[in-house]
Amino acid sequence: MVDIRLKNSKTRRVEVLDPIVPGKVSMYVCGPTVYDRAHIGNARSAVVFDQLFRLLRHVYGKDNVTFVRNFTDVDDKINARAAEEGREIADLTAETALWYLDDTRALGVLDPTHMPRATGYIAEMVAFIEDLIAKGFAYARDGHVLFRVRSFEDYGKLSGRSVDDMIAGARVEVAPYKEDPMDFVLWKPSADDIPGWESPWGRGRPGWHIECSAMAHAILGEQFDIHGGGADLMFPHHENEVAQSCAAGHKFANIWMHNEMLQVEGKKMSKSLGNFFTVRDLLDSGVPGEVIRMVFLGTHYGKPMDWTEKKRAEAEKTLRKWYGLAEAGDAVPKAVVAALADDLNTHQALAEMHKLDGAELGASLSVMGLWSGAVPEWAQEDGVDLSAFVECLSDAREKAMQSKDFSVVDALKTALTAAGIEVRMSKEGVELLPGPDFDPSKLEGL
Ligand SMILES: [Zn+2]
Repeated sequence: MVDIRLKNSKTRRVEVLDPIVPGKVSMYVCGPTVYDRAHIGNARSAVVFDQLFRLLRHVYGKDNVTFVRNFTDVDDKINARAAEEGREIADLTAETALWYLDDTRALGVLDPTHMPRATGYIAEMVAFIEDLIAKGFAYARDGHVLFRVRSFEDYGKLSGRSVDDMIAGARVEVAPYKEDPMDFVLWKPSADDIPGWESPWGRGRPGWHIECSAMAHAILGEQFDIHGGGADLMFPHHENEVAQSCAAGHKFANIWMHNEMLQVEGKKMSKSLGNFFTVRDLLDSGVPGEVIRMVFLGTHYGKPMDWTEKKRAEAEKTLRKWYGLAEAGDAVPKAVVAALADDLNTHQALAEMHKLDGAELGASLSVMGLWSGAVPEWAQEDGVDLSAFVECLSDAREKAMQSKDFSVVDALKTALTAAGIEVRMSKEGVELLPGPDFDPSKLEGL
């Protein structure tokens, strides 16, 4: 079996993945808070961990990889949005979760094995919190339950910060019910008009962090192989997950992976700069999902990624070419697997694919989530059958070989090129590859 090496954020080293249960891999990735369309920064994380999921399935077999990605469907941002729009919370979160699945599936993202919703695990969270209180790591006060950060010695280890630095640098909230400003909320009281559940501490709702610890434990157990998420989640979210789970006595995740953030044309994406867009905006503007995915995979997940129009155009051109050369296959060449197994070096894997064609290219496109065995509609020749032109050009070439008069061949080539078609002529024959500028109307009358 191929060794998969991954950069572990926890040890800051590249390590060989050594599954807890030999031959089986378990992974948890923090999913979206569902109240709005996913922006392309959110989508990068979905694609990165989908690519890892696809590699793991390729190496370990489809049935031997368990991937959990949650939906956060209880959150104050959700409550605020529902109030703003005057609609039911459950209705808002159900619709947004479906949007997320639609949009990510359009990017070739497979559905994870389990997609738990936080509201489905409230009892598990309450039990988890009760256990933390019993062990002295948490305390209840005024309807709140807080995690006692200073009681957990390793707090800050994952993100490499000391508690005192964190207090100095972070916007920690001082509140009368906190023993220490660093303590974070596990449970908080709910007013009558917002979602709440009965608990030993009164009617309330969970804080954000506890849901991942409780759901990972419920589905994957006390220890699992990989935990992923965006680099922006490392502190405080992941630091708090580690604190809760390890304080409860679980070993939790062996390898932590974080994908870096996304920019647009060299600038941080923000609503005020007008360069903020959602996956749906891109898809609706005519950018195919495969092209978006290809642009994402062009940059290593551990580096900041820049979305540019130039990259979009290049990705589209390459994919059109590849779809013209690929055939169905499932034997992925070693060099492509080796690149992916080297800390998910998708950039290198794509570089290797430039050397391929036929079934090897088809199998590689599949493992990269860029092909489902058929050429996507957008990359087909817009319904124009080019075979007549291939025949015409072949005939003209044959005649020209004898007459030594290539003027007809040249005229045909010029016209085809002007219509955005790449003309390839070799001993094997004539090949016509429509490029991104292909304009079928220019073929009329030829
Ligand atoms: Zn999480």
